[in-house]
Amino acid sequence: MKEAVAGELAAAYDSAIVDRVRANDFRFEAGRLTVHLAREFGFCYGVDRAVDYAYQARRRFPGRRVFLTGEIIHNPHVNERLRDAGIRFLSDAGERADLLGADDVVILPAFGVTVGDMAQLSSQGCTLVDTTCGSVLNVWKNVVRYAQEGFTSIIHGKVKHEETRATASQALKYPNGRYLVVLDRDEAAIVCSYIRSGGDRDAFLARFAGSVSPGFDPDRDLARIGCANQTTMLMAESLAIGEMFRDAMRERHGEAALATHFRAFDTICSATQERQDAVIALLAEQPLDLMLVVGGYNSSNTCNLACICAAKVPTYHIANPECLLSADEIRYRPGSAPCSAGGIQEVARGWLPPGRIAVGLTAGASTPNNIVGEVIRKLESFVSL
Ligand code: SF4
Repeated sequence: MKEAVAGELAAAYDSAIVDRVRANDFRFEAGRLTVHLAREFGFCYGVDRAVDYAYQARRRFPGRRVFLTGEIIHNPHVNERLRDAGIRFLSDAGERADLLGADDVVILPAFGVTVGDMAQLSSQGCTLVDTTCGSVLNVWKNVVRYAQEGFTSIIHGKVKHEETRATASQALKYPNGRYLVVLDRDEAAIVCSYIRSGGDRDAFLARFAGSVSPGFDPDRDLARIGCANQTTMLMAESLAIGEMFRDAMRERHGEAALATHFRAFDTICSATQERQDAVIALLAEQPLDLMLVVGGYNSSNTCNLACICAAKVPTYHIANPECLLSADEIRYRPGSAPCSAGGIQEVARGWLPPGRIAVGLTAGASTPNNIVGEVIRKLESFVSL
């Protein structure tokens, strides 16, 4: 039903102004304002496909209840549109996954669901529309292989993020499957120290409570490890963490035995990588007064884009155009806030400097073009006042 929903999708999420900016070498000019758009931004292939499948599912099963397990992607605008289209969210108050049956259709999101949730919905006879992204499936494949071969998966990710929960659950498909989730370099350093020289086992387990598989024993389960990651983490950090573990395992077991104790595969999603690379290039090529990063506050890849920008220029992570309150006031999530800090918001005054201004603009992988286009239009209205 791809063609049947193409018009609906284009009307909902495309933007003529974004198309024009793209055609104009990713530059928009109006009076004293120049907007420089990153060369890769917005909807990635996985999100594009997931949203497409959701609209197709609604059409394909007109007389049946259609549910999402939760947010299909981390963008409030897209989720609201799906609600408007009649799709219900099992994460909403009053909805019960355990009461679904063979007449119900359930859409699984781009970041996947846990093995347990999948089994439960299948056993209830629901029709499943699986939009799990191929890049996420690639991570799962590696985690499953680690488990089959007796390696513990070390997952660089956010332990409460749906994708990381789903990825970790893949390790438990095999009896000896184990996992440990590390959020950042600091947590990785603690684990690496334990690998090198051991330590207080109980303190270790207390520190990583909730981030390890049931029955995890660091003395046993850190002897053979394989690295994986949530696909939307900072690429540079994921690679650095992989190297930290490689070094620790080399010191612990020696170079000759490294291959039997350590595995790593590149499981960084190419769309995340391209968006991060594009924003790094933009910051290097253009003198910018500020950066606007558009996307949900719970969107991991958007928060990471904001972190990259905040290290270079004043950065405002905004959820939608309504956050641009006026030419003087902006409501935003500080770009420098750690991604784990959640959706904290601040209001700043005097954010748009006087005189000629160069604004850098990018958007996370779950932000549709119409939202990016509205941000450009709003900026234009501020400088023409
Ligand atoms: S960010 Fe990457 S892994 Fe996630 S849906 Fe998009 S393409 Fe897939």
